Amino acid sequence: MGDREQQFVTEAFETNWIAPIGPHVNAFEEEFCQVIGSSHAAAVSSGTAALHLALKLVGVGVGDEVFCSTLTFSASANPIAYLGAKPVFIDSDRLSWNMDPDLLQAALEQRAQAGKLPKAVILVHLYGQSADIDPILKTCQQYGVPMIEDAAEALGATYKGRSPGTFGTIGIFSFNGNKIITTSGGGMLVSEDASITSKTKFLATQARDPAPHYQHSEIGYNYRLSNVLAGIGRGQLLVLKDRVAARRRNCEVYEQALGNLPGIEFMPEAPWGSATRWLTCLTIDPIAFGADREQVRLALAEQQIESRPVWKPLHLQPIFQDSECFGGEVAEDLFDRGLCLPSGSNLSDEDLDCVIQAILKCAA
Ligand SMILES: *Cc1c(COP(=O)(O)O)cnc(C)c1O
Repeated sequence: MGDREQQFVTEAFETNWIAPIGPHVNAFEEEFCQVIGSSHAAAVSSGTAALHLALKLVGVGVGDEVFCSTLTFSASANPIAYLGAKPVFIDSDRLSWNMDPDLLQAALEQRAQAGKLPKAVILVHLYGQSADIDPILKTCQQYGVPMIEDAAEALGATYKGRSPGTFGTIGIFSFNGNKIITTSGGGMLVSEDASITSKTKFLATQARDPAPHYQHSEIGYNYRLSNVLAGIGRGQLLVLKDRVAARRRNCEVYEQALGNLPGIEFMPEAPWGSATRWLTCLTIDPIAFGADREQVRLALAEQQIESRPVWKPLHLQPIFQDSECFGGEVAEDLFDRGLCLPSGSNLSDEDLDCVIQAILKCAA
């Protein structure tokens, strides 16, 4: 936490706005828009809730297909299943580890020829790095398929000077406890279309029709963000730049100490923008390095250092094993060889050195 969160929370208590509505919610939405350069926002209870409503708002329903990056957290695709729709996964490129624009083009062309286009494309911006948005958006527009951006991990990143999440029909963000800024749990849905965010707020508060009594013509959800948590979010927005700088610095320190080791490659920073390095990730070539990813992870664990493999691709997950995937070899390779290092914005130089020494010991 920064310096101001507690003050905003106290204000919520003193004004008795302990509800999923209130001045902090409105202010958080406005301030969030200013930070990322979006026109409209709706604060909700999680990134997953935001994605669920986003898919619903672009018309995804039972039996529809939705294209989604395969190298990501399951929360990117679970809302597809909530709606009874079917995920179709797309592999990554090696430049950004995000959705491969050429593969998406080929997949959409194939579906267009078959006369059954997906209802949406979920473009994930992984580990604090933007995907190559322009060609992906162009392809989506060519086929008239709405692009939804899962920017849960990418708050503070840029693509050609702008924030990822602001290019598609809808963008979503997460403030879960592990994200670059947090409200403990929370999410944001942004759009340039005010009717989308107002419909989001309607659906997120049980879809109450305008009437003096309780009247409902649609199934609603209880997905709004608490005013108390929005207060935390307002404080966190004030330290976003510091958090990004701290995460980028972690990566620089790691890269300086380990970047020249044979067999070690850091997740590249793509030329189109600035990555936040939400997590510092690298791949290990076992032959060149002298130990494989799992040996390194276990050696770190022995020193009480937690690290994790890169996301297991969704097309390899038991729950999605029957889903189609275009490509998949890149994501599989990144999963086999990829490791996420400790990346918290509160790591000290001693902490970083401890991790570095443990990895150096594994080298051949
Ligand atoms: C965290 C995350 C989500 C879900 O956000 P929650 O707020 O935890 O529901 C979705 N997509 C990605 C890529 C994430 O990392």
